[in-house]
Amino acid sequence: MTADNGRWIRNFVDGEFVEPDEHRGFGKVDPATGAVHARVHEADRPLVDRAVAAARRALDDGWASTAVRERAALLRRAADRIEERFEEFVAAEIADTGKPVTQARELDVARAVSNFRTFADVVAAAGQESFLTDLAGGKQALNYAVRKPLGVVAVIVPWNLPLLLLTWKIAPALACGNAVVVKPSEETPGTAALLAEVLAEVGLPAGVYNVLHGFGGDSAGEYVTSHPGIDGVTFTGSSATGSHVMKTVAPRVRPVSFELGGKNAAIVFDDVDIDEALTGLTKSVFSNTGQVCLCTERVYVQRSVFDEIAGGLVERARGLRLGRPLDETTTTGPLISRTHRDKVLRYFELAERSGAEVLTGGGIPRLGEDLDGGSWIEPTLWTGLTNADRVVREEIFGPVAALIPFDTEAEAIALANDTDYGLAASVWTNDLRRGHRVAQSMDVGMAWVNTWFLRDLRSPFGGAGLSGIGREGGASSLHFYTEPTNVCVQL
Ligand code: NAD
Repeated sequence: MTADNGRWIRNFVDGEFVEPDEHRGFGKVDPATGAVHARVHEADRPLVDRAVAAARRALDDGWASTAVRERAALLRRAADRIEERFEEFVAAEIADTGKPVTQARELDVARAVSNFRTFADVVAAAGQESFLTDLAGGKQALNYAVRKPLGVVAVIVPWNLPLLLLTWKIAPALACGNAVVVKPSEETPGTAALLAEVLAEVGLPAGVYNVLHGFGGDSAGEYVTSHPGIDGVTFTGSSATGSHVMKTVAPRVRPVSFELGGKNAAIVFDDVDIDEALTGLTKSVFSNTGQVCLCTERVYVQRSVFDEIAGGLVERARGLRLGRPLDETTTTGPLISRTHRDKVLRYFELAERSGAEVLTGGGIPRLGEDLDGGSWIEPTLWTGLTNADRVVREEIFGPVAALIPFDTEAEAIALANDTDYGLAASVWTNDLRRGHRVAQSMDVGMAWVNTWFLRDLRSPFGGAGLSGIGREGGASSLHFYTEPTNVCVQL
């Protein structure tokens, strides 16, 4: 195809959009229909060099030492401007992902606004650590830690919640006085580019926010993470890529923050309010077509309510409405791409070979017209599997869960913790003490009781094991995006 077939999504370097190079473009496919709707300009190494140099210059020219109050005010203006251009962000997010308009409005773009406002508040309220140290002879020393920006930060983000996850990193990074070089997913370049316009409009100095489009290995992703001018990498994506990025930055020993994959469990006890649990579980399995790192793919259900929960979940899965993103009654969009659907379908086949009983779904829906060109998949539920099966151990990242019965609380805890991942879990019970007890015993970064994906943005977010390194949110983000210098004064 030629550039005339669609509009270009451009790189943004040193405060300006870069004129696209005809020979370095790739097509952006609409996952709902499979049609190419835009051309994306793939950044080459010289452009990455320019972006990193611009970021360094912006820091040296004064951005790193801007007053906190000014940076907080700028973040608030960014939030206000996103609200003013809200529907443009919604449209860009839908064009990239095919997700339902209600979700793009209520989750993705709304959270981008909250991310900026939260980190404006968090940075404005942040204090600094200090200690009075007792010395011999009644003397004292004063220790205090000054936190300085990390520097030029590489921000690598995935395609599932593109704007939400990008702003979750950008807001605290800018709040702390860093300059960023962003590499959005090749699948979802739109909102990162639109955010460049907004940040320029609200007065962010040139070079502080740069966007480079492209792929991972031997493309913009690798060029950015391996660049000697980068002072740290914040990465959200798959565990395999995280491991790769870690090797890339290892020779120069730069700090990394990793939010990686999950194979999250839900534990449903028989004392639960069945209807409430079903509503929560449906959300946790099928939100964003199962493409949320926090989504539940393993549901452990106490045996006496197993059939009732399984039957109720099947009914709700069948009640989901797959359809056009702009139809307000659509609940469920397509997967991000045909490639990703092929991966999910391979797990569907593997599940059946492993002896799964398919309670519902398991295939490709026929939606008619141009939608059949998209990457749609049926919401799917299995029984008959155990923790020994690969489909119960590996992250699938689709609208699918295995339902497995248990008898005792101890057994449920052991089953849920029997994983290499450690991102999230949810516990469903009306027994208050059991709720706390079981949630605390989950080997994960986030455990919910009678809810899922309920976030206070000041609280720690992240995972253990294959799910990542470090935490984001509130003070945890401020810690990653700053380097402390401890000053000790003998008094
Ligand atoms: P991915 O790892 O394939 O890609 C993520 C980003 O890394 C993309 O921008 C990609 O271009 C880039 N990349 C790929 N290879 C690279 C390389 N060698 N060097 C530098 N950059 C490279 O992940 P994805 O498929 O886009 O996203 C889905 C994954 O993200 C799932 O595993 C999901 O669980 C995870 N995720 C985790 C969280 C979290 O907060 N823990 C949130 C959302 C998604």
